Amino acid sequence: MQEETSYGIGNVLNAAYARHRDNVAGAPADYIPELAAVDPNRFGIAVATVDGALHKIGDADYPFTIQSISKAFVYCLALELIGRDAVLERVGVEPSGDAFNAIVFDPHTNRAFNPMVNAGAITVAGIIHDVAGAGAFDFILERLSDAAGHRLEMDEAVYRSEAETGHRNRAIGHLLRNVGALKGNVDDVVDLYFRQCSILVTASDLARMGATLAHVGENPVTGRQVFDLMAVRNTLAVMFTCGMYDYSGNWAYDVGVPAKSGVGGGIVGVVNRQLGIGSFSPRLDAKGNSVRGIAAFKDIGDELGLHLFDCS
Ligand code: GLN
Repeated sequence: MQEETSYGIGNVLNAAYARHRDNVAGAPADYIPELAAVDPNRFGIAVATVDGALHKIGDADYPFTIQSISKAFVYCLALELIGRDAVLERVGVEPSGDAFNAIVFDPHTNRAFNPMVNAGAITVAGIIHDVAGAGAFDFILERLSDAAGHRLEMDEAVYRSEAETGHRNRAIGHLLRNVGALKGNVDDVVDLYFRQCSILVTASDLARMGATLAHVGENPVTGRQVFDLMAVRNTLAVMFTCGMYDYSGNWAYDVGVPAKSGVGGGIVGVVNRQLGIGSFSPRLDAKGNSVRGIAAFKDIGDELGLHLFDCS
């Protein structure tokens, strides 16, 4: 594994880290009881480039649960498994403007608005479950591990905590079953969703996983083709428009790269054909996005000129 500070990326990371380290705004998620137990002061950032380099600062190797960031990668797998048209019949690609856990479907289609909110992600878990059955979680874990470049694990305590308290997600699952977006046993699908959310990653892992998407699905370090080419394109598009929940418009405006956040405090960002960025800081804002993560992404994006529509 290469670790270097060429291209000035290392300096930019150090500066963003130093500037925001003392920001204690926000609070860790507590609606999943186990998440409230995290050390709120942890803060790490990593950048992985498509030529295999990794730059990192702070708690970039501290593990936390991937939570909603899994939604982007599992969506990519669903596209590959059953194809874009079949996926679009089950879940849309329209920003909802609602909170991630909103109980609301697109009135025109009677389906979840997009795969980056819970209703859409539970639908996507259903697609994986339809195809892979009891092997669905192992399939997801294996592919996400391939994207990170090493074997990932699930956090049992967070999984159990969410399984014990996730009644809102169960309710969403039953509504999806009612409108025909889910087939089969709702409990099995929601259980798969809880498990995928409980996969442990680090900011470095997220950077590597982002770099795999940036590198059109090929892990830059291992050389393995992890994701299907067209699936990556479609996934990045929906990350760009919907990845930061009801902050997605602001994010596209200010940061301007496809990204996905999770209530574990992580954010992954993708600069197509160039690099992946991972950040971890558990204190969240009212929309469920990491406060220091957003601040760091804004700085890094500005300094490195990462905005898709940058003119300078
Ligand atoms: N597992 C969490 C949930 O479904 C994920 C939500 C999130 O990260 N925004 O509530």
